[in-house]
Formats: sequence, C-alpha cells, structure tokens
Amino acid sequence: MLDAVVVGSGPNGLAAAITLARAGRSVLVVEANDTVGGGVRSAELTLPGFVHDICSAIHPLAKASPCFTELPLAEHGLEFVEPPAPLAHPLGDGTAVVLERSVDETAASLGVDADGYRRLMTPLVEGLDRLQPFLLGYRPIARRPISTARFGLRALRSAVGFANRFEGERAKALFAGLAAHSIQDLNRSPTASFGLVLALFGHAHGWPLVRGGSQQLADALASYLRSLGGRIELGLRVASTDELPKARVTVLDATPRQLIRLAGHRLTGRYLRALRRYRYGPGVFKVDWALDGPVPWTAEGCARAATIHIGGTLTEIAASESAVARGEVAEHPFVLVAQQSRFDETRAPAGRHTLWAYCHVPHASSEDMAERIEAQVERFAPGFRELIVGRSAWGPAEIERHNENYVGGDINGGVQDLRQLYARPVARLNPYSTSVDGLYICSSSTPPGGGVHGMCGYWAARSALKRFS
Ligand SMILES: Cc1cc2nc3c(=O)[nH]c(=O)nc-3n(C[C@H](O)[C@H](O)[C@H](O)COP(=O)(O)OP(=O)(O)OC[C@H]3O[C@@H](n4cnc5c(N)ncnc54)[C@H](O)[C@@H]3O)c2cc1C
Repeated sequence: MLDAVVVGSGPNGLAAAITLARAGRSVLVVEANDTVGGGVRSAELTLPGFVHDICSAIHPLAKASPCFTELPLAEHGLEFVEPPAPLAHPLGDGTAVVLERSVDETAASLGVDADGYRRLMTPLVEGLDRLQPFLLGYRPIARRPISTARFGLRALRSAVGFANRFEGERAKALFAGLAAHSIQDLNRSPTASFGLVLALFGHAHGWPLVRGGSQQLADALASYLRSLGGRIELGLRVASTDELPKARVTVLDATPRQLIRLAGHRLTGRYLRALRRYRYGPGVFKVDWALDGPVPWTAEGCARAATIHIGGTLTEIAASESAVARGEVAEHPFVLVAQQSRFDETRAPAGRHTLWAYCHVPHASSEDMAERIEAQVERFAPGFRELIVGRSAWGPAEIERHNENYVGGDINGGVQDLRQLYARPVARLNPYSTSVDGLYICSSSTPPGGGVHGMCGYWAARSALKRFS
C-alpha cells in the first residue's frame, strides 16, 4: 500500500507530494492534464517559437516561499529572472510610477508622499522575517503579536481608505494597482492587505519570472519529486476517490466543488453543508500576444519592469473593480500585464516578443474583453496594436476547461475576503483535514490562499504526516 496519493500537480499538489516524500513516504501524484504544473504551465499559445505562460507569470510568492526556498530547485533547472524593477504603473501624464527594489528609490518618485511611503514600508521590510510566518502560514497567530497586530490593523482596511492616506495621485495609483490583485471591491476590507503584502514582497524579494517559462518551475518541482522516489501519472482525471490506489493518506489539490464531486459520498453532512457554503469569486479574461517588437510604452519606466499595471488612477481602478464586484464588466478594465520576453530571450524568436495580460470579469462571464484590454494597452503604448502578429484569448470558460480548479474563471480557488481568508474551505482548527479520516485538501482553497507559493500543499502535508508518527 502507498503512503500517499496526491490528486493534482499544481504547485500545492507538488509541494505536498515533495513534503511527504522528503519525510520518507511513498507518493503517487495523479494529474488530469498531460503536463505537470496546474497554474504553472507554459505553451505555444499563439505561434511556433512563442512561449506563453498559460496562467501564472510573475513569481514574488514562489521566490518568498519558505517551502520552495529550502528545495534544491536550481539543480533541477529553475532559474528566476529578476527585472531591474518589480513593477511599473503608467499614468496619463506620460510618466510611470515604478516600484523599485529599494524603498528609498521608490519613495523618491512619489513627490509629496515620499516620506509617508518611506515611513510605512521601511519598518515592514525590516520586520519581514517576523511577519512572513503570519503571511504564509495558516492561522492568524504570530510569534511577535505586537508588530503583527500593527501590520494587521493597516491590512484590515479597505484599499481605497488606505490609499487615501497618501496625498498625491502617484502613490494612490500605485497602491490601488497592487491591491487590485485581491479581485474584490477595493472599498472593502481587507483589500489593503494585498497592496501591502505585494509591495513588501516587491521590495524584499523582487517580482521575478522564470527563465524559459513558468513551466520550468513546475518541471523543477516534478523532477525533484521524482529524484526522491515520487511517481507522477499524467492524463488521468480522477472522478471519485474510490478509483484511487489504496493509500494511507489522500491529498486533493482541488477546490471544494471538486472535493464534493470526488468524495461527497464519504463526507459527513455537516462538513458537506459547510463546503456548499464556500464562495467562489470573479473570473479573469486573459489575452496572450505574439508581437513583432517590444511594446512601445510612452513612459520610460515601463521598460524596466516585467509587470505593468494598467488602469490609471486610484479612482479609475477602484471603479473597474467595483463594477466587477457588482457583476458588470468594466468598460476601462484594470489590466495586469507581463512582458516576459524583454528579460528572457528564450520566450520568442529573435527580435520578437510575447505579452501576457488579464483583467477581472464577473464570475463565469462570457463577455469578450480582448478589445477593451487592447485599448487599455494602446492608451499607454500607442502603436502597440500594429505589432500584433498572433493572439490567444481565453475567458472564464476556457480557463476552467484548461484547469477545473478555476471555477467560473476564479484563479484564487475562492473569494479571499475576511470570512474566507483563513477559514478556507471551512472554519476548522485544521483547515486541511476533512471529515474523512486520512483525506486532506491542499489547494489554494486552503490558507494561505491563491498564488504560486506551495504553502497550502506544504501545510497540508505537514498535517497529514502526523498520521505516520
Ligand atoms: C490567468 C492566471 C494568472 C495567474 N497569475 C499568477 C501570477 O502571476 N503569480 C501567481 O503567484 N499566481 C498566479 N495565478 C494563480 C496561481 O496560478 C494559482 O493560485 C496556483 O496555481 C494554485 O495552485 P494549486 O496547486 O492550488 O492549483 P492549480 O495550480 O490550479 O493546480 C490544480 C491541479 O489539479 C489538477 N486536478 C484538479 N482536479 C483533478 C482531478 N479530478 N483529477 C486529476 N487532476 C486534477 C488540475 O488539472 C491542476 O493541474 C494565476 C492564475 C491564472 C489562471
């Protein structure tokens, strides 16, 4: 009998499998797709020779992850590429606010808010070692409760409320773009937390991409798992846990909806009812382009960062995210852009480029946003459209077809608001355990939530390992 079967090879599934294998346990990973990685895959989506990241592209969380940093992934082919600046945010006046690695350099470009930004971020960056277990852990409990509480009080605010502490448009816009990663109405608590954490990780760890494509991160995790004796079976979609080989523990890199489908007949009525109350959030609409040259940004700063936040001012970005929260598409959407090929020549044929972008849309929306996304890029990079030689556009339905964890196009495995930040998928002392003995859940529908960090898988495996002691 196997020690463990893991269903799903996303970063959390692979992190769970590796954590179990490192503890000497026999592990089998079963994956529905023909390639490993879940949301960490790359493919030639447009034209031959253009490597596009199908889902995740930018990896501050992977770089910061205590789980990944202790693994010898470089020996298995992982190389992070660090652009000169983590992020650029173009504005209507032709300039860009740039989040630099250095807090001081970032502050220097914020005019009236320079001192305020420095006073806010410097202690957070200096105290990150104490905060990180809280940010990437599974309980809102910290070893240094006072400094964590100070952070928590700010983080609990709405992004709009928090951004309005700044006087100038530049700092407000920068913070709004960062906080919009929450995929929530920016007038709601705790959207400020997303802005603070992403700025903090930008200063402390950078916002890198992976040389050769995000797939290389998944491949490195898979290669390391195999070196530990773990096995991976691809192209096998599990319909019920009853189909799986006998194992002492089963770990599902799946969201509550799939947990119900895979094991609903074994769960208790109470747990099942709690799972059914779990809420999924808005979806995303994504476009990838093959380009005949680099994007001609008006603002110089945009050439120094792989990630570009497009949406203009705090007011514009907040309006875009509020529309989505109301169930409407935004006419001028906030767009997250990644230009990997500027910093990684392996992504496109010589002289040519790739571009990756998405915007938020209502859950399961069927609205085609490609035109609106292109108009937003063109607004800050006139001439962009003339460079397009190939295009791939995916709405929520295509994204979910590609990876069933993205229910209705929700890339975080469920809303990450106050109620579901730690109590995911249900409020339980050990959120990774289920009502079935030996059955665990490890996807981004568990704490600490969405993003490529593997910490959900790591904590789930740590909890499963207790059965072997
Ligand atoms: C468009 C997009 C952009 C993103 N950008 C970023 C980014 O830049 N940075 C970042 O950090 N994060 C980003 N994310 C989020 C990130 O990809 C996810 O949070 C992360 O991949 C979640 O990891 P996971 O292991 O929980 O699940 P997933 O990566 O979704 O993996 C789940 C795996 O389980 C498999 N599976 C599910 N059910 C079954 C079954 N029944 N049988 C067999 N296999 C099954 C799936 O096929 C899949 O391979 C993005 C996501 C998307 C979609």
